[in-house]
Amino acid sequence: MRYISTRGEAPALGFEDVLLTGLAPDGGLYVPESLPHFNLEEIRSWRGLSYAELAFNIMYPFVEEAIPEADFRQMLDETYGVFAHKAVAPLVQLDTNEWVLELFRGPTLAFKDFALQLLGRLLDYVLGKRQEHAVIMGATSGDTGSAAIEGCRRCEHVDIFILHPYQRVSEVQRRQMTTVQGDNIHNIAVRGNFDDCQRMVKESFGDQSFLGGKARLAAVNSINWARIMAQIVYYFHASLALGGPDRSMAFSVPTGNFGDIFAGYLAKKMGLPVSQLVIATNKNDILHRFMSGNKYEQHQLEHTLSPSMDIMVSSNFERLLFDLHGRDGQAVKQLLENAAKGPVSIEDYRWKSARKLFDSAAVDDKTTCDTIREVYEQNEYLLDPHTAIGVHAARACRRDVQVPMITLGTAHPAKFPDAITDSGLTIKPELPAHMADLFEREERYTVLDNDRASVQAFIAEHWKNA
Ligand SMILES: *Cc1c(COP(=O)(O)O)cnc(C)c1O
Repeated sequence: MRYISTRGEAPALGFEDVLLTGLAPDGGLYVPESLPHFNLEEIRSWRGLSYAELAFNIMYPFVEEAIPEADFRQMLDETYGVFAHKAVAPLVQLDTNEWVLELFRGPTLAFKDFALQLLGRLLDYVLGKRQEHAVIMGATSGDTGSAAIEGCRRCEHVDIFILHPYQRVSEVQRRQMTTVQGDNIHNIAVRGNFDDCQRMVKESFGDQSFLGGKARLAAVNSINWARIMAQIVYYFHASLALGGPDRSMAFSVPTGNFGDIFAGYLAKKMGLPVSQLVIATNKNDILHRFMSGNKYEQHQLEHTLSPSMDIMVSSNFERLLFDLHGRDGQAVKQLLENAAKGPVSIEDYRWKSARKLFDSAAVDDKTTCDTIREVYEQNEYLLDPHTAIGVHAARACRRDVQVPMITLGTAHPAKFPDAITDSGLTIKPELPAHMADLFEREERYTVLDNDRASVQAFIAEHWKNA
């Protein structure tokens, strides 16, 4: 399988290089040149498979040139073996034909574990084979760094440095990152804000000379193709559990960078009957504004009760734009260059073709809290604020009550207790048993000045083979 850039000017790569590369040199994102397609009979024959077995069938075509079958099976058994629920991604019923797919039973209680647990193992495998070492550098505003760290904790060929703004992340968020034990795990608290952290990471990718040419810098952010690939699986898994592929499904997806929902779009293209995808956003609603009015325009960042969806642009949306433009990289490049200067639209027939599958809703904090409270009162089931946005959008956009509507449950409610309090409920969500001693665990992190040279010097000194 070859991977091409959405901006049409970078050379095609194989899986290993795509895994290690991140952004394409022309500024685009990698997508498979063609997708595997499964017919209904084949999908039907997967009923009853374990999550890891199903994951193998769906993902192997993407990686087969890089990884022998038995090695990939073992990797998947390990990856999905760390999830706390035996079904890995269990379904919970809210109402007639209405479900939540719980994707938060992994080590950091958010759906990012599905991709990052696999990504860490894939990186380690490929780097080991090449006898190379990678230094991962990333910035977090608090809630997503832990999944990357957990994903790399067992890697021999990877050191990970995650920058977070000093004293500006919550204690639970900090502890989820700083209590993970491992010589290759490095938490840096920068005396600055999240933008400072992100800028340092970006500049370091631009000039990697501080590593002295002995290691490559790798990114694990949401544009990494392998992350998208891993997220395709649970759409099939949920559908098979509810009578697919012999009936069609609708999914509502709490959306930020458009990675998770793009995986649902790919599942459909690979043969899964999906009749509707709902883009559920918070007040950072660039995608809702596009889907409802064909206008793509960047606004200011808003801070909301669902911080993992606080974005100004949705990086993976470029992958959908590429398909909507008949895979014409030049057209995508032009469009996004224009979008950097002001609002843009696409041709009406292209926009309408997106609207055949996608609906959208933007949900404010008050409605998020109302949804948390209503669902708790009706079902004694506690939603986290991201999932609550998904449930509200699902109900608002539903096209056909005969079609099962599945909202992706992206985080455990105990990760975001403030939203529960704001919703007026007096219950306090408990951390699951495997996290209950979080506040007793030993923390490790280093506080550094808001200065790129100091951070780079720290990294150069502390990665394994430095
Ligand atoms: C990352 C995240 C999202 C958004 O996912 P995207 O793939 O960026 O659209 C939604 N909810 C939670 C809890 C997340 O961590």
